[in-house]
Amino acid sequence: MRHVVIGGGIGGVCCVEELCRLVPQDVVTLVTASPALKGVSGVVRLSKYVEEFKVVERRAESMVRRNLRIVRGRVVGLDLAARTVSLAVTHQGPTTQQQQQQQRQQQQQQSGTEEAEELLPYDTLCICAGARPKVLAHHDRVVTLRDTESMQDFAHRLAGSRRVVVVGNGGIALELVGSVRGVEVIWVIRHSHIADAFFDVDAAEFLLGEMQWRQEQEKAQQEQEQADGGVQTQDRDKSQKSMTRQQQQQQQQQEEVWQQHGAPDQRQQKAQGRQELGAALGPKWTEALPKGPPANVKLERSAQVSRQSSD
Ligand SMILES: Cc1cc2nc3c(=O)[nH]c(=O)nc-3n(C[C@H](O)[C@H](O)[C@H](O)COP(=O)(O)OP(=O)(O)OC[C@H]3O[C@@H](n4cnc5c(N)ncnc54)[C@H](O)[C@@H]3O)c2cc1C
Repeated sequence: MRHVVIGGGIGGVCCVEELCRLVPQDVVTLVTASPALKGVSGVVRLSKYVEEFKVVERRAESMVRRNLRIVRGRVVGLDLAARTVSLAVTHQGPTTQQQQQQQRQQQQQQSGTEEAEELLPYDTLCICAGARPKVLAHHDRVVTLRDTESMQDFAHRLAGSRRVVVVGNGGIALELVGSVRGVEVIWVIRHSHIADAFFDVDAAEFLLGEMQWRQEQEKAQQEQEQADGGVQTQDRDKSQKSMTRQQQQQQQQQEEVWQQHGAPDQRQQKAQGRQELGAALGPKWTEALPKGPPANVKLERSAQVSRQSSD
């Protein structure tokens, strides 16, 4: 039997791992559009329904199974009657050391990453291509968070921003509003209370109060630190002027990391112009955000974005 799994996110990778284990006599093919694969490690079953685990990201080449073939490419069509997947292939993942060596030699001889069309036959097909976010506007000031690249783009732009409008009322918006630093945040939710999908009104109001209280505490603590010898910068915006020396160092380190990913304009084009999305982010994704003083959060309840002006 030939099993084909589309998608290198957690869904696809877990599916492939189980298939390789359960049917070692069959050939399992993983098709991934991005060079990085997601996965889980250190799974601890806490109860019948609750598990704890770490989300890991690794190079496709590092996932080796005897009956696994990894194809780096984009699925561009499906023929359900003929049972074939049409691929625009960028890279064939080797499964053995010998294949890896041959591939390295081929790569040295070839230049570029030209795509070739390939038909992949299957007996069983599992589609784990993920979900697409609802993009409200295509504009150079609008970032839609989903994967590592869009996150890096957002984090970089945050460093030079004074005000951020967060639109959304799910888990991602909730975590983001609680983690963004050094800016004014206007949080637009279409419900009457925050995190409508998770909490009832009472729990939501309690959480909001708690969040604001913590932010005020942190702000007061930082002001105290400033008074006790924090440094002032001359050329940054007002919110960054109140950063402590430690926060400035953290921010500087962060900016150095971002510089390695290219200029903001290039990264933005890359993030917005990509044909395929990478795997979606997971737990602890907000750790890459710049550090700084707590944000001022203003909540806009029962509001929806209807139009976004071009300037
Ligand atoms: C900001 C953010 C924070 C999150 N935080 C958490 C959290 O804390 N806890 C939690 O449990 N979940 C979290 N999630 C949700 C979690 O990331 C997703 O539920 C999970 O990653 C979905 O996995 P998936 O494999 O179904 O899809 P994805 O991770 O989206 O993977 C889909 C894969 O398919 C590939 N693909 C797509 N189209 C094609 C094609 N045509 N050809 C070939 N390959 C293709 C993509 O490149 C990708 O590798 C978060 C999500 C986001 C965006």
